[in-house]
Amino acid sequence: MKRLFLCDFDGTISLKDVSHHLLTTFTNDNWQEIEHDFISGRLGSKEAYERVARLLKGSWKELHDYARDYTGLDPYFQEFYHLCKENDIAVKIVSDGFDFYISALLDKYNLGEIEFFSNQLISKPEGGFDMKFPYYNPECCLSGTCKGSVVSDFRQTYDHISFVGNGISDRCGASRADTIFAKGVLYQYCQKKGLDCFQWESFLDIINILKHELSQK
Ligand SMILES: [Mg+2]
Ligand SMILES: [Zn+2]
Repeated sequence: MKRLFLCDFDGTISLKDVSHHLLTTFTNDNWQEIEHDFISGRLGSKEAYERVARLLKGSWKELHDYARDYTGLDPYFQEFYHLCKENDIAVKIVSDGFDFYISALLDKYNLGEIEFFSNQLISKPEGGFDMKFPYYNPECCLSGTCKGSVVSDFRQTYDHISFVGNGISDRCGASRADTIFAKGVLYQYCQKKGLDCFQWESFLDIINILKHELSQK
């Protein structure tokens, strides 16, 4: 059986929400109104991000270095990744955040080989930023990256897909997975919708569940 773990990044693999903090820091707090509309559900993340892009100050390198130093990864994520690798279980990242800080933080932990799917921040030669949303699917949701579509695409390759997440943008991805590991807002969502899930706090919980499953074979 070919098995895949698809993991959210911000607040799941990374200890803090990099995207949120970065936008607050590099827009001089001017994105609060946009954030308010986003949290209340009036605005999808794609549109929120596009509005924020116009407010972003600083150079690409400043953003990159700031993100790399801002936070760390869940202390058990590396061990989880290596356990999966030893057992031929694929691990990939699906994020409604941005490519530059995901790779900066993965590199910091020598995990740059992990494949990820996310929005992209592009520094324009004339200054300022552009954003790209290669996994946007308005037929499902208004997130920049539709995680549900990424799960569906992997159906052709994998027999069993587990989804690990914590937030609003994880809802459609988790709903289409075979097994859900949830915390935070995603856990509340699963409870409300009656979706079976494992509640987790750190990747150690997931390691323990996975080790137990592997020992049953
Ligand atoms: Mg998250
Ligand atoms: Zn979606």
